[in-house]
Amino acid sequence: MKFQTYLKGVPAMVLAGLLASALPVHAKAPIDVVASFSILADMVKTVGADQVNVVSLVPADGNSHEVELTPQDIKKVSSPDTRLLFVNGLGLDSWTDRLLASSGFQGKVIVVSDGVKVRKLDEESSHEAHDHDEHEHEHEHEHEHEHEHGHDHGEFDPHAWQDLANGQVYVRNIAQALSQVDPENAPLYERNAQDYIQQMQALDEQVRKVMADIPEGRRKIVTTHDAFGYFADAYGLEVIAPLGISTSAEPSAKAIAEVIRQVREQQVPAVFLENVKNNKLQDQIAKETGAKVGGMLYSDALSSTGEATSYLGMMRSNIRVITEAIK
Ligand SMILES: [Zn+2]
Repeated sequence: MKFQTYLKGVPAMVLAGLLASALPVHAKAPIDVVASFSILADMVKTVGADQVNVVSLVPADGNSHEVELTPQDIKKVSSPDTRLLFVNGLGLDSWTDRLLASSGFQGKVIVVSDGVKVRKLDEESSHEAHDHDEHEHEHEHEHEHEHEHGHDHGEFDPHAWQDLANGQVYVRNIAQALSQVDPENAPLYERNAQDYIQQMQALDEQVRKVMADIPEGRRKIVTTHDAFGYFADAYGLEVIAPLGISTSAEPSAKAIAEVIRQVREQQVPAVFLENVKNNKLQDQIAKETGAKVGGMLYSDALSSTGEATSYLGMMRSNIRVITEAIK
């Protein structure tokens, strides 16, 4: 009775605020999760909002194919508070296997690319002139020794997020995983995922419209490494990439000469730089072919500054930079 009398005349909003601050028991701490690289971390943050603390193992502008793991990385993953580890899968971040082995991670690993339409690599772009189907297992063993840093030249193209339809699959997987470990906030995650998916759908429609206005013969680009296969398949583009899917090796003189020949022959209008790669080769290709340097693309990592600091911003920036250079 006394309590009610005291509160009489206090506006409802103020009252709600008073109650919230007076009852800290109900303020649930955000859940801790880890993502293998910056693009996933941004997606998880967008879905989880302030109910989720997310740490990215590979930072913005970092190379998501190869990682030198630090004791801090292992500590983050081994913390008993860390509930989920989000990985891309498809061979991009298989270095997380070593991390899991050495950290004693107690949470759940979520492969966000589960359910995407996977792009198979042809032999050319996977750097292997062998028959994948017959010798698959032998290759895996050979590669264990070759690739100390844990990236692999698998059968599949891992860069699935470059197609906005796949981005939507990622977001659904993320929302489902968060809802499972934190059912109390499931409605929030679901709502955020729906909003996010709608924005992806709108951007997807937009890029198709812009691309349709570009003559087919001009829809060709050169990128440093082959990270835009999904983008190209989804939006009707042809990509030439001297570095292949993930390799950190320098391309041979012969491979460079072949790229230059193709760019000349097909009159590729523009060559692009990438935020995660050394771009010296691109300048050389542009110089020798007369193609213009079209600008910076964000392939495997967000930018640490500017528009491409989020997944949607990165996609918007890539779409604009590509279409403006080739239109
Ligand atoms: Zn890549």
